Amino acid sequence: MAMLEVRDLSVNYGVIQAVKNVSFEINQGEIVTLIGANGAGKSTIVKTISGLLKPKSGQIFYLGEEIDHKSAPQIVSAGISQVAEGRHIFAGMTVMENLQMGAFLQKNHDEVSKTYKDIFERFPILKKRRNQDAATLSGGEQQMLAMGRALMAKPKLLLLDEPSMGLSPLYIQEIFKIIKELNEKGTTILLIEQNAKQALSIADRGYVLATGVVQLSGTGQELLANPEVQKVYFGG
Ligand code: ATP
Repeated sequence: MAMLEVRDLSVNYGVIQAVKNVSFEINQGEIVTLIGANGAGKSTIVKTISGLLKPKSGQIFYLGEEIDHKSAPQIVSAGISQVAEGRHIFAGMTVMENLQMGAFLQKNHDEVSKTYKDIFERFPILKKRRNQDAATLSGGEQQMLAMGRALMAKPKLLLLDEPSMGLSPLYIQEIFKIIKELNEKGTTILLIEQNAKQALSIADRGYVLATGVVQLSGTGQELLANPEVQKVYFGG
């Protein structure tokens, strides 16, 4: 059984059909990437999985249970956390307070303290800056904070929407390295990226989306070698 199964999903904004009969799955332990140009429907799919949007038709199953009618907090409780595009860190709050927001559903204080420790080990820069206003962090540091905040909920499945967006090449490398490490430590990952080459290089499998439809799918390596993908997404 797949960890997450998206079955014939369609999502509309009013009359705009943003996602059309999309099906894909994510197995436990995988990194799966959705790639596609601006407006292909990637963010809409992520927001629907995390319960922020409701499908027009189709279903989403997580560990065999249908979740598309559940609320966003219920979905976080079930083990799915999202890092939204643009990061949305809370300005005027410290790094530590931002992380705290990610643990809003955790009841066990010992467990929360341990999670902070894990996150500070993974992101030493967040520890160093823990008492600083989050708004003063660089873009790359804010991405790490957004990821750290999502990890405070101890997700089994992490949804990352364009984590490399707007970052310098050095930070992009760092973020992809961290994604790979998180996965090796046991977190299953859905990675949305416009940076197709890097995303496919670390992904087990990928799906190529265009105007709301899945056009191609395969292993990361197959898609990297696909002439159509090379032409459209790697610029020739
Ligand atoms: P991007 O990388 O630019 O976010 P995307 O692949 O994530 O692109 P979506 O943001 O999911 O694409 O958008 C899919 C389609 O839905 C686009 O045509 C977009 O214009 C439209 N859309 C997205 N959000 C809304 C909204 N709130 N209201 C109306 N249309 C929307």
